[in-house]
Amino acid sequence: MSRAVTVDQAVTEAAEVLAGAGTVTLLAHLDPDADALGSALALGIALHRRGAVVQVSFARPDAAPESLAPLDVEGLLVPAPLVNPAPEVLVSCDAAEPGRLGSLARLLDTAGRTVMLDHHATNPGFGDVQVLDPQVEATVVLAHRVLVAMGAPIDPDVARCLYAGLVTDTRGFRTAGPAAHRLAAELVEAGADPEPLTRALMDSHPFAWFEGLGGALERAVLEPSGLLYTTIPLADVRRYRPEEIDSVVEVLRTAAEAEVVASVMQVEENRWRVSLRSTGRVDVAAIATALGGGGHAMAAGFTREGTEEEVLAAIRTALAA
Ligand code: 5GP
Ligand code: MN
Repeated sequence: MSRAVTVDQAVTEAAEVLAGAGTVTLLAHLDPDADALGSALALGIALHRRGAVVQVSFARPDAAPESLAPLDVEGLLVPAPLVNPAPEVLVSCDAAEPGRLGSLARLLDTAGRTVMLDHHATNPGFGDVQVLDPQVEATVVLAHRVLVAMGAPIDPDVARCLYAGLVTDTRGFRTAGPAAHRLAAELVEAGADPEPLTRALMDSHPFAWFEGLGGALERAVLEPSGLLYTTIPLADVRRYRPEEIDSVVEVLRTAAEAEVVASVMQVEENRWRVSLRSTGRVDVAAIATALGGGGHAMAAGFTREGTEEEVLAAIRTALAA
């Protein structure tokens, strides 16, 4: 979109496009989290209940994380190969750039209209209608605004999807501002039950994971620069669920001495997905962007080819810059 529009105008426009759509495909980013999938499913459930033909998908992995699958109460999730190749309306949720949609980014060129909902400051802007607001804590905040603009009811199923994204992207409301707390209250009133939701999403791992976590913590290294990192070998990445693997960085960030923490996960023999977190002073979005990724100042990520040492060297170089 070349015109300069406010977020409010974009929300109104997105609501108009979605309210008039007969078929809608909603996409979450690669390795979807609760914010991406919660946004897509909240909108998807509401549109499906209004009579639209709805698909929700993501390019990788093959199935939704076990902790998020129960949000799909209408059975809207479809495997990436079965996604409509040219949907009437395409919605991108929580993807900071087209590349974060993986192979499904091709739909941006084939869809009739595209709506992008996101809150990453590093998002360059893409899609016909761009609901992009780096001020909000989670993309579900924007999904909620679009639902309200559509006049769609926030029923318990929709509320759970929105709450899931809000509670996780704010790390249990630690980084939530007043408006996000008010939205949380509204969602709880609408039927989202915080305890079972947060337990499944943030506080529950199989006992067998303790061994994997123990190994990850034993391998952790604290460097004089304030970089604290650990590596997770391919065998562990394959053995445990994404819920377990992705939780390592949250444990690392509790080290009081650390400025920047990195969980360096081996996703192929020579390919590494890296989660970065800042404890305050360092903007990790800048580091991630320099290394081909992106994200937020306090939480960012990238994926990179090379040996473990090469990836670590790249992080050290970017951190020093
Ligand atoms: P996580 O470490 O939880 O996977 O990601 C942290 C944040 O960085 C999330 O907001 C996520 O969307 C973003 N992020 C992770 N990897 C990438 C990437 O490769 N590119 C971009 N643009 N953002 C990323
Ligand atoms: Mn998000």
